[in-house]
Amino acid sequence: MVSRGGAEAQRNTRERSSGIRILRVSASLRAKSLIALLLVTLAWPFFSKEDAGAWGFYGHKRINRMACFTLPPQMFGFYKRHIDFISDHAVDPDRRRYANADEAPRHYIDIDHYGIDGKDPFVEVPREWNMAVTKFSEDTLKAYGIVPWHIQVVYNRLITAFQRGDVDRILYYSSDLGHYIGDAHVPLHTTENYNGQMTNQHGIHAFWESRIPELSADANYDHGVGRAVYIEDPLSAAWEAVQASNRALDSVFNFERTLNERYPADQKYVFEDRGRGSMRFPSQGFTKAYEDAMGGMVERRMNASIITLGSFWYSAWVNAGQPDLDRFEQQDVSDSLKQILAAEEEALKMARESLGREEPNE
Ligand SMILES: [Zn+2]
Repeated sequence: MVSRGGAEAQRNTRERSSGIRILRVSASLRAKSLIALLLVTLAWPFFSKEDAGAWGFYGHKRINRMACFTLPPQMFGFYKRHIDFISDHAVDPDRRRYANADEAPRHYIDIDHYGIDGKDPFVEVPREWNMAVTKFSEDTLKAYGIVPWHIQVVYNRLITAFQRGDVDRILYYSSDLGHYIGDAHVPLHTTENYNGQMTNQHGIHAFWESRIPELSADANYDHGVGRAVYIEDPLSAAWEAVQASNRALDSVFNFERTLNERYPADQKYVFEDRGRGSMRFPSQGFTKAYEDAMGGMVERRMNASIITLGSFWYSAWVNAGQPDLDRFEQQDVSDSLKQILAAEEEALKMARESLGREEPNE
């Protein structure tokens, strides 16, 4: 049972990078330039907080893996061949947050920030990036998160990768896209109260997105979500995911509050050994009671992530002209991509060392 996401989230935590400029250029797949970029970004003083890591390590990997099974036969062979890569790298974007200041706001949107005075934030915030920038400024958007727009960015990069027949980039962006789409489906990634810190529900983030799937998904979830479908308007689809997540927030908070009040205090938590010592987690009973109260919401949001991701992959491939994936090289990812991933790993290690601590559970 992987606990990393839970442990991360319990430390409360999200990099807030108000005013930090998003890197607009596509991440170069040349190891040299990436290493140079990492050295620059490593020098920046932004290591104050950590990510709450949506879906945890476990959930993200599962979403990316299961999405492969929604694909049509023309795509399935290729994705099946690389299913371990796509699954293993599902959580890379969270890890980049240690080493890249631009990364943090790509994972959420605190949409309620725009909903003051009873206004509907989904009406207030234009769906188009340029219109939203005109209305609120780029700095403000980045301060409160940009996940729906970043999904569109990565989606477009994936189309280009398909057009070029670039196996490395197809895998890299397919995997990344799964991460951001997964994040957009987590209710707590759409609010400033992302860890219950404003309502005395601290730790609810990991409870919802890590503890529940870790205890339930393997045994109880049914990911039969059907076939990927063509998405006419990916940006709208990304916004709809955010909106559906946001609508679920009342239940996420209210059921936890009610349950917390009535559940026997001495049965709420257990201590589990997670590598670096014993850590406190919600007990199985408490977790199940919360999940039952929400009526299977976590499973539904996970399944919505899976079918949406498969549909984004499929739509990118269609928009690229349905290239014959079987003619792409059959082998593993190239050495240059491996170099980049190794460089990211190295940057992560350096960032951790500069923080004077290790990642738990590794
Ligand atoms: Zn994330």
